[in-house]
Amino acid sequence: MSAQTIQGNINARKFQEMLLGWYDAHARNLPWRESRDPYRVWVSEIMLQQTKVAAVIEHYHEFLRRFPTVQKLASAREASVLAAWSGLGYYRRARMLHSAAKVIISERAGTFPQTAAEWRTLPGVGRYTAAAIASIAFGETAAVVDGNVERVLRRIVGKAISGEQVWDLAENLLDHERPGDSNQAMMELGATVCTPRSPACLTCPVTQICVSRGELADIAKAAPQKKREVHYALHRKNGTVFLVQRPKNARLMAGMWELPEIAPPRDRDNPLFKVKHSITITDYTVEIWALSEPVGVNGQWCAIERLPNLPLTGLARKVLRRSGIFPASGRPANSSRVSGQA
Ligand code: SF4
Repeated sequence: MSAQTIQGNINARKFQEMLLGWYDAHARNLPWRESRDPYRVWVSEIMLQQTKVAAVIEHYHEFLRRFPTVQKLASAREASVLAAWSGLGYYRRARMLHSAAKVIISERAGTFPQTAAEWRTLPGVGRYTAAAIASIAFGETAAVVDGNVERVLRRIVGKAISGEQVWDLAENLLDHERPGDSNQAMMELGATVCTPRSPACLTCPVTQICVSRGELADIAKAAPQKKREVHYALHRKNGTVFLVQRPKNARLMAGMWELPEIAPPRDRDNPLFKVKHSITITDYTVEIWALSEPVGVNGQWCAIERLPNLPLTGLARKVLRRSGIFPASGRPANSSRVSGQA
């Protein structure tokens, strides 16, 4: 289906006028909107990835106070950058930002890329972020699509579009004279009006041309998270740890290795430690118990140095890391040998 077919009777010009008119009157006063300086726009876009606006506001000024220029950021110690990022989470973003700053200084003599294509060559800059920076800071006609924009566009055209169809439609509806504002207006609409669970269609600036007018709201309704407590045994001896393999025909994580799940031990006071773990709609509280020999469990003693090569479940990896067994980094061994049989 072409973007024109998806767009149907929606007049792009009219859509842009309505959206930008609303944005000019109602846009939130956010600190990164005060400037089109590429360094500031870039920092804000990286901070905003998977993080709420309120949390970013708290950190944005302090980060820029410590690292007011890309030169200062590039020459900083990583520990300092991570400290300034503290509280924002997803620290890989901070490391990538730092790496990209070094690239800008060492390979581009401190000159920022201007196009989305160039921005994408930098560490930590994906398609969305590159288009956002290039359109806001340099006026490139590159549309952005994230979860918010995708939801808004789906509702506007009243069709379950996905992937490249969404990007094509976003490009078609982008204002070519004000691409940065047009992108920000779409993001603003998704964040403040066309929200996942309760779109405010009565106050929406594009309600006249929106095909679904909230009828697709249910698509985005999140299922409530369930809560569960589970218990796993940690058996160790002679440089090995006891693991079990999930059935090859298991619906989830088939064939992967994990710690043996057990009933809550009644004769012990406290687990070794607890971790939180979420899988789709379930939040688990996981209690790990240090036990001696496994009894009646079909599993294997796995050499600890081989663990990096084993297909471990995410939870097993988390637990083994937390217990100091699984190396936080290091070169994987050459094979995924397992040894011994319980
Ligand atoms: Fe979203 Fe409603 Fe506006 Fe359509 S009319 S874009 S569903 S808020």
